[in-house]
Amino acid sequence: MRALVKARADVGLDFDADRPPPTGSTGTPGEPGPREVLIKVRKAGVCGTDRHIWEWDAWASSRIPVGIVTGHEFAGVVEKVGAAVTRVSPGQRVSGEGHITDFLDYNSRTGNAHIASDTRIIGVDRDGCFADYLLLPEENVWPLHPDIPDRYGAIMDPLGNAVHTVMSAGVSAKTVLVTGAGIIGLMAITVAKAAGAARVYATDTNPHRLELARKLGAFRAFNPIEHGNAVPIPTHWAQSGEGRPRSFPLPPPPGGTAPSEGAPKSSPPVGAEVPAWIDQIRSETRGDGVDVLLEMSGAPPAIDQGFQALRMGGTAALLGIPASPPNFDLTNHVIFKGATVLGINGRRMWETWYQMENLLLSGRLELDDIITHELPLEDYARAFELMQSGEGIKIVLGVNE
Ligand code: NAD
Ligand code: ZN
Repeated sequence: MRALVKARADVGLDFDADRPPPTGSTGTPGEPGPREVLIKVRKAGVCGTDRHIWEWDAWASSRIPVGIVTGHEFAGVVEKVGAAVTRVSPGQRVSGEGHITDFLDYNSRTGNAHIASDTRIIGVDRDGCFADYLLLPEENVWPLHPDIPDRYGAIMDPLGNAVHTVMSAGVSAKTVLVTGAGIIGLMAITVAKAAGAARVYATDTNPHRLELARKLGAFRAFNPIEHGNAVPIPTHWAQSGEGRPRSFPLPPPPGGTAPSEGAPKSSPPVGAEVPAWIDQIRSETRGDGVDVLLEMSGAPPAIDQGFQALRMGGTAALLGIPASPPNFDLTNHVIFKGATVLGINGRRMWETWYQMENLLLSGRLELDDIITHELPLEDYARAFELMQSGEGIKIVLGVNE
């Protein structure tokens, strides 16, 4: 079969025109074990994770076994099922959850299989879907509703990240800030609108993405570089007073003057120096800031700004992954603010998938503008170029259409 393989510990992927089909528990290529399903891939989404694997950065080189087939976002058709499979049959259109677990650990057994300790990810830890065929355990296969087209089925993995984040935070009748209007941030905007958010604000450093954020329903979309400081000067409260934390370094306050003494307050209080766009958000939210932060950039300045824009007692759902541990003002952004902080990993199994199906069938999600390019599998190099240049947002590869 055709496959995009991480064949070398180096930049890029190799196109293998003659890769044997995946081997499951039977040990025979292309033969599913009793509870396995062989899927003929129709379309596959290219993800930021695939870009890391392509670029062979520190994360990728420490995680990815050289030799695997890459890709984890797909829609396809069931080709063959194992003898004990009951829920799907050949010919059925499916997508699937790429996080595989044996469903035996503590988290799986207590309703949190999305953070199972034995999670293996297709296209990351084992063979994935940038290929003619993919093998998945039956549990991971998600039958696609006839009204959900393949191009949406192929992006249910990142859409599920957005849905999981939005639903975890709870956005109905609330003001929401999405920091980072990339693939998942843009999806989160349309999901939050569909889920009844009162007003959605967004930030990004790419003007085209900001335009798209507005088109998808963001009330305002700010470029933090143009609208005030790219990296705001945080207003830190006295670090030298009695009983105050001293264990982490903080930048000097604005103008280099000594930090003020006094009782700890939220970060930074209304009226303190913040970028103009945060001031504007505050002025439009009774001076308080947004109810909900959805952090979808992983960029430390955006994380800092997001918490600045969050009201006292607000909820922050964090999906973006910083490249290295950020310098973060825990004291003011979380503790004194009384913020609820949620770490978001993957998609809930299977609550997020049911929610996604409902949202997709409601017709309220606008995904077509987020899928900027559809290319044949053979044009994979172009897909990565488009991602790297920022011109492409979500790129879908046609595998067997
Ligand atoms: P993406 O690259 O498409 O989006 C990130 C966006 O952030 C880009 O549009 C970029 O321009 C913007 N950005 C960069 N610096 C910024 C700043 N200072 N202020 C505002 N915006 C800024 O990536 P994606 O696929 O949408 O993923 C978003 C994040 O979520 C990434 O960090 C990714 O690693 C992470 N992720 C997490 C999970 C999870 O399970 N937690 C799953 C998938 C992706
Ligand atoms: Zn992905």
